[in-house]
Amino acid sequence: MTQSSQAPAASLPAAGGAVSTVYGPVRSWRLGQSLGIDLLWSDSTCSFRCIYCQLGKIHRPTRQRAIFVPTDKVLADLEASAWQEADVITFSGNGEPTLALNLGECLDEVSRRTAKPTIVLTNATLLGDPMVRGELARAERVFVKLDAASDKGLAIVDHPVADPAAARSPIEGIVAGILAFRREYRGFLAIQTMVMPANVSEVDGLCELYARIGPDEIQLNTPLRPVPRAWYPGSRGNHGGPAPVPESHLAVLTRAQARIIEKTVRERTGLKVVSVYQPQ
Ligand code: SF4
Repeated sequence: MTQSSQAPAASLPAAGGAVSTVYGPVRSWRLGQSLGIDLLWSDSTCSFRCIYCQLGKIHRPTRQRAIFVPTDKVLADLEASAWQEADVITFSGNGEPTLALNLGECLDEVSRRTAKPTIVLTNATLLGDPMVRGELARAERVFVKLDAASDKGLAIVDHPVADPAAARSPIEGIVAGILAFRREYRGFLAIQTMVMPANVSEVDGLCELYARIGPDEIQLNTPLRPVPRAWYPGSRGNHGGPAPVPESHLAVLTRAQARIIEKTVRERTGLKVVSVYQPQ
């Protein structure tokens, strides 16, 4: 029996919402041909509201885990997709994948059925929960977002949903969760940072955190793509095409600024650094 058949779905798809939980493959600068799996499915759902979010707007800001779509539906959508053409299978979609209570179950089933590498993109807000870390550890690679080293930077860039049970500052809680995951996880761990003028002052503090965490790779990005101003069903898989809603352009790092930051991070941490501006 699947977990999804043990627990009720928290929400059913909204009328006009995305039909399939599987999309792509789409071309990614880090991953090649990536098939997306969306466990949030019917609406944008996240514990952050990042200013650069390609989903446009988070309609369900939450830290509450739930089953948003049954595992059986995800696996049926996988069977009907072009998964054989993908280099990797990425759990991302309409928000934060660790909010899905069936993440671990879906990771296991997708690996078993496709034998492709699985990747989860997470904002790390739930990594303080050992159960979430256990589920996430079933992925072959995990990419963890870390855009700030201070509560102020976090508030400016990521707008986290408040955790009423938190005993410490938001950034301390997030970093503690990442450190715990780093200790337990045997797979490939990357830290992803979106750097822009709004948080470039966080780079010094971030270098200290990178060195403490010791990931396998640091991925530096800057929001080169325009940001939609509203969520729409196809936003999760839009990797460059025009959006059917108004878009805005954020201030980005220039290539020269990005190169200096890359060099700084590399020299101060000794870690592997990749950047969206590097030739792929
Ligand atoms: S964590 Fe990802 S999905 Fe959530 S708001 Fe930020 S960019 Fe959007």
